[in-house]
Amino acid sequence: MLLHHRILHPRLLVPIVSFSAPLPRSLRSDHPLLLLACGRRNSASLFARSHSLSTVAQLAVSAPLEVDAPILRKIADGEDGEPQVQIPLDKLFVPPGVDLSEAASTASGRVLRGSNIVLGPYARDAQVATAEFIKSSTKTEECPTDGLPEFALVGRSNVGKSSLLNSLVRRKRLALTSKKPGKTQCINHFRINDTWYLVDLPGYGYAAAPQEARANWGEFTKNYFLNRESLVSVFLLIDASIPAKKIDLEYASWLGQNQIPMTLLFTKCDKRKKKKNGGKRPEENVEDFQKLIREYFKEAPPWIMTSSVTNQGREEILLHMAQLRNYWLKH
Ligand code: GDP
Repeated sequence: MLLHHRILHPRLLVPIVSFSAPLPRSLRSDHPLLLLACGRRNSASLFARSHSLSTVAQLAVSAPLEVDAPILRKIADGEDGEPQVQIPLDKLFVPPGVDLSEAASTASGRVLRGSNIVLGPYARDAQVATAEFIKSSTKTEECPTDGLPEFALVGRSNVGKSSLLNSLVRRKRLALTSKKPGKTQCINHFRINDTWYLVDLPGYGYAAAPQEARANWGEFTKNYFLNRESLVSVFLLIDASIPAKKIDLEYASWLGQNQIPMTLLFTKCDKRKKKKNGGKRPEENVEDFQKLIREYFKEAPPWIMTSSVTNQGREEILLHMAQLRNYWLKH
């Protein structure tokens, strides 16, 4: 069973505001915006009064029940100088099992920092205690048959996939996937906490790979995406330190058109280009990428900004995986 994104009409969404002072100029528009950063009750109340929003949930301060408290506290501490990201409400990802209007009215919901993902009651058991390499498969049919839920990491060669995988499981060299897609085309299963899998797929777009190997790669991974029943979501890695690449856009649009659940993980968000050199900041590349793929998705796919250098996004990824996984297991 694939877990498809729930459709939530924007009108059902209650405005959520969570920010640190001073108020950014963009919030002074009529369009309800969501600001992702840590919350300050006073600033949020002030904003609510002076801008007459019907409901304002101050979500960053209070943690929902039933979620991993240590992780949440760390995120809620915030105020670490990371840039704020503004998201219109209709671009939020509301995971299955979350009623956003209810969450807002009880102030028990919140949005994961550096992402568009609303955190709900299924986000428990997010920590990684054990990680174990299980097997490499050359075909979908050879993959483990125990039915445990899995998440597949995929991205262009050099996007930072091995670094991210290692940072997720806090190991130096767990990801042993070959860097040469023409050589090793394997689906690598890593079992986490004996209860779910992280799956490492070979990188695509490797310039030196022969045409034949590239074509095989496409067939091989597409077959896996279309037929693997225990696949909860694909995590597509995109380098946020450079402008969108055609091959990544094609990849994301293929997933969208085939209704494969997808989360975008933007990598290397610590790399900040100087504006005067014409380089865009990671936040701008993140926004551009989404605009370019929007038409292929019924609703905004979830996305998270990450860095394996600073560990930005690590806990957010684990919480996001936990809530998708726990919902999937229950339904
Ligand atoms: P893979 O080919 O997708 O597995 O990519 P790697 O994890 O091997 O990383 C490719 C290159 O990008 C290496 O030089 C890494 O040190 C670098 N890199 C990976 N992640 C990050 C990151 O988050 N920030 C920065 N600045 N560099 C990164």
